[in-house]
Amino acid sequence: MDFDQLITFMKGTLSNHDYEQFIFIFHGGEPLLMGIDYYQKMLILQDLCKTKKQKIKNIIQTNGSLLNDDWITFLKTHSVSVGISLDGPSEFQNKHRKYKDGRETFDDVIHGVQKLKNNDMSVGALSVLTEEVLSSNPYDFIKFYQENGISNLGLLAERPSTKKSIDSNDTNDFIENRNRYASFMMKAYDDWLGMDDCTFNIREFSDILNSIIGGKPKVCIFNGACVGHFFGIDSSGEVAHCDKFFDDKRFCFGAISEHYLSDIVTSDTFLKAQEIETEIRNKCQLCDWFSICKGGCLYEAMTYEKYGINDRINYCHLRKIFDHIYNNIWTELNLSDSRLKAEMV
Ligand code: SF4
Ligand code: SF4
Repeated sequence: MDFDQLITFMKGTLSNHDYEQFIFIFHGGEPLLMGIDYYQKMLILQDLCKTKKQKIKNIIQTNGSLLNDDWITFLKTHSVSVGISLDGPSEFQNKHRKYKDGRETFDDVIHGVQKLKNNDMSVGALSVLTEEVLSSNPYDFIKFYQENGISNLGLLAERPSTKKSIDSNDTNDFIENRNRYASFMMKAYDDWLGMDDCTFNIREFSDILNSIIGGKPKVCIFNGACVGHFFGIDSSGEVAHCDKFFDDKRFCFGAISEHYLSDIVTSDTFLKAQEIETEIRNKCQLCDWFSICKGGCLYEAMTYEKYGINDRINYCHLRKIFDHIYNNIWTELNLSDSRLKAEMV
């Protein structure tokens, strides 16, 4: 997004005084390529546009390869959080995440992680669990992050391409992939608990635990209705419901240069998108975990439907993970009172 678009975007977004908390996440491509000047001007812009009540948090999701002393000083001074995109040890990272010229990225990314750590910055990482990772040992995989000083790890299921048409073989492959993801996560959960390291958080697990005991989860996927709470804006200034929806016109709301946030959230397209979301989430109502999970990630639910799976409850990978963690809690607590269990859900 060029700076003129950014000005329109910030003005249009922060002028909506119904919203008091904003989290801006810069990701996709390599956001550090925009340079420090760009973000410096953006911070000034935020300060100029926001009201006293509005709170702003900025996060940069990067591969970390460009982190140098200047960046560290800037990020620390302005409390900008950094998430590192790191798909695991070198054999996994280098296979899928290469520079445009084909060079491997692993060494540079780890260098960036070390740079953050050496400057006492907390390091979060997002990892996509590719097919290769799902065939690996979950303990070794998460241990790699722990050993590299990652304090907060997100473990994402791989997203199938939105472009290709789908046949029944693809549906079977998709179900198989989600089953493998669930198995990996359940084993990783047991291993994570076994590590007994409160400085090493895996956000999906702590969010599920937190939700089960009545707390508020942090990641969007366990927070219920998300249309209107998250927006994705691409480099051309197009606005969609979160970054996963630019290919779905039902969830695209026009150019930020032409529409303020307040116009977007009252537009027919937006209201229709909310209706679609409600309809999809309601299909989960019979699930035991609905009161906590609220239907999970909307994009994931739509992916199940795209693969022809309309009775998602019978296949849902999240449900398996919830069941596993829940049963584990009861085993750990050595409690077997089914009445108490029923009250908890
Ligand atoms: S669709 Fe999924 S990723 Fe996007 S905001 Fe909703 S829960 Fe989050
Ligand atoms: S079926 Fe899956 S996504 Fe839906 S509420 Fe249950 S656990 Fe959540």
